[in-house]
Amino acid sequence: MPLVSMNEFLPKAKEKRFAVGQFNMNNLEFAQAIAQAAKEENSPFIFGISEGALRYMGMEYTVAMAEAAAKTSGVPVALHLDHGSSFDVAMQCIRGGFSSVMFDGSHYPFEENVRLTKEIVKVAHAMGVSVEGELGTIGGVEDDLVVDEAAATLAKPEEAIRYYEETGVDCVAIAVGTAHGMYKGEPRIHFDIIEEVSKAIPVPIVLHGGSGVPDDMIQRSIELGVGKINVNTENQVVCTAAVREVLNNDDNVIDPRKYLGPGREAMVEVVRSKMRLFGSNNQA
Ligand SMILES: [Zn+2]
Repeated sequence: MPLVSMNEFLPKAKEKRFAVGQFNMNNLEFAQAIAQAAKEENSPFIFGISEGALRYMGMEYTVAMAEAAAKTSGVPVALHLDHGSSFDVAMQCIRGGFSSVMFDGSHYPFEENVRLTKEIVKVAHAMGVSVEGELGTIGGVEDDLVVDEAAATLAKPEEAIRYYEETGVDCVAIAVGTAHGMYKGEPRIHFDIIEEVSKAIPVPIVLHGGSGVPDDMIQRSIELGVGKINVNTENQVVCTAAVREVLNNDDNVIDPRKYLGPGREAMVEVVRSKMRLFGSNNQA
């Protein structure tokens, strides 16, 4: 199956109250682990590609690996730019073969965020590419993106609703208290914001910073209208732990497959459990 836009599965996700996972791809092992998990769970999924990961892997390899993953998994797969920072990078990704882009204009004033998002939506939709927008500022660290706690601001529901109405995005990330990276304590999710926005707009809400959010909070947010959840840190943690264990136990190992393989295996289990938690299993 070729790469698909998120509109292949997000409307169904909102209607049937499940969420599709965005799992970030950082290299070949991530691509393979996520695709294998999806095949075993018969679940649609989204490859998230940060601008940093895109620079690391290159456009050609990124798209080719995603296409190979879609072909071998047999489930609907979207290739999605994560936190795109400009019109130009969004266009480069669309031209390169991405089926979906996020524009993160959350650091701009509201009207400017709306204006820039609209420009991207116009071109993307003409190309059959889906768009995710962002409102409010999600805290934490993700690649180039660093937002300290003081700068993180919750989304205002009335603004989020107006943002959707004026831009026509296919899903909207709203800052509801989650953060990128791992949590020190328990996250405080503002379910009231999710509920108010979700009731007013037809498209699903996106939860960023899904790593380390307790299962019951994930389930409640899905019931209220979250239809896409981003997971990256948890995969990085288990992959690196598995690699470190092999290297720490054997000074003579030099074959990358001997340590990257166990890292890949560890991620398959994480992704499978997330797909079951999100209810996207058997929804391909
Ligand atoms: Zn994010």
